[in-house]
Amino acid sequence: MLVENPPFHVATEDAELNPLLSAEARFDAAAQALGLDDGMRKVLRSPSRELTVNIPVLLDDGRIEVFTGYRVQHSIARGPAKGGIRYAPDVTLDEVRALASWMTWKCAVTNLPFGGGKGGIICDPALLSQGELERLTRRYTAQLYEFIGPEIDVPAPDMNTNEQTMAWIMDTYSMRAGHTQTAVVTGKPVDLGGSRGRTEATGRGCMVVVEQALRKLGIDRASARVVIQGFGNVGGMAAKVMSRAGFKIIAIVEWDGAVYNENGLDIRALTEHRRQTGSIVDFADGVNMDREEAFFLETDVLVPAAKENVITSHNAHRIRAKILCEGANGPTTAAADPILHDKGIFVIPDILANAGGVTVSYFEWVQDRMGYFWNEQLVNDRMEEIMINSFRDVVAYAEKHRVDNRLAAYMLALDRVAFAIKLRGIYA
Ligand code: NAD
Repeated sequence: MLVENPPFHVATEDAELNPLLSAEARFDAAAQALGLDDGMRKVLRSPSRELTVNIPVLLDDGRIEVFTGYRVQHSIARGPAKGGIRYAPDVTLDEVRALASWMTWKCAVTNLPFGGGKGGIICDPALLSQGELERLTRRYTAQLYEFIGPEIDVPAPDMNTNEQTMAWIMDTYSMRAGHTQTAVVTGKPVDLGGSRGRTEATGRGCMVVVEQALRKLGIDRASARVVIQGFGNVGGMAAKVMSRAGFKIIAIVEWDGAVYNENGLDIRALTEHRRQTGSIVDFADGVNMDREEAFFLETDVLVPAAKENVITSHNAHRIRAKILCEGANGPTTAAADPILHDKGIFVIPDILANAGGVTVSYFEWVQDRMGYFWNEQLVNDRMEEIMINSFRDVVAYAEKHRVDNRLAAYMLALDRVAFAIKLRGIYA
């Protein structure tokens, strides 16, 4: 039996900011609303496999340092695990577990034939040389060798990892396998089996779902105002493709400041300004603005595309956007969900909004396995089709079951994964 919008309870502030507890709160609400039985809940809630590795690395000065890394495969019910690897000093196993489960739900919402996984290494990449990063990446790959592969688990870039990191992983894996195996990772350079359109894919996917939401709410695209937090891969690319398509990007918020232009920022010029000065502030064609003031501007669309936990129970009431498109993973805590719901904000949840990236990663994996590469238009068209269908699936589910979009996305995803598990049965 369906329960209407069960609340997501998170007890204390520390708990509110723990991504695993946020992920579990949303999982529990969706499982309850679906009426999933206890056994299935246990299967879906627990990661299928978790690996912790201690990685010795010879530093440039001759010392040996040992770094801790993780790879969590949350689910392989619908296909190989899929998900990025991040390098950061504050990586925790709980965070990797949460991110791995989000990948399972994201791939299910978009109906991609993947499960979910995520990896991370506790390190500060800013303090490591290129040579040290390469040795760290290669040794981590070697220690993961039996656990990854095109049919097992397919990593990709995430925070502080990039095309070069993926090229090192692909090469290390291939040297161990004895032949070149490009399909072991996605997000590779185009010259090494990468897909055209991958760099822009997440930002472009955000634009596609925002267009659908505007249409749904009857807001004219030509007059739609957009605020974006984060001018990196997701936010920067979303700004680029959206401004090219005629959206008015009135503000960009970065870690060191915000810029505003009520007529819409010239994103190409802002990108060049950041390239030259290292910052978006003091841009000639806009005015500097306080970061919070910009984030809480009255606008049609707000795209948090920087990091997790930026919208919490303490500030959600200040959001003045009609549409919230979650470009980042986990930008909203579970405790903030009911506040956004009560304010009537049309939320496009992260597991739908930023799925353009994993969708084109799927295309990369397909192209590598076929050995036949598509042009950029074909990649963009196929991604758009998947994003539009996924948006429609989530919104139709929300309307049918009278729940909000986030709960609908989780319910749809859990339902699809549970169905796959039921069909496969429990192997004994
Ligand atoms: P990125 O490092 O390229 O960009 C992040 C940007 O946010 C940087 O420019 C950084 O300076 C800025 N930033 C950091 N802290 C900030 C703050 N407090 N306020 C404002 N700006 C801040 O990273 P990315 O790849 O764009 O990823 C951003 C988010 O999107 C992450 O949550 C990531 O997991 C998620 N995501 C990324 C992809 C992808 O394809 N890259 C796909 C799905 C989800």
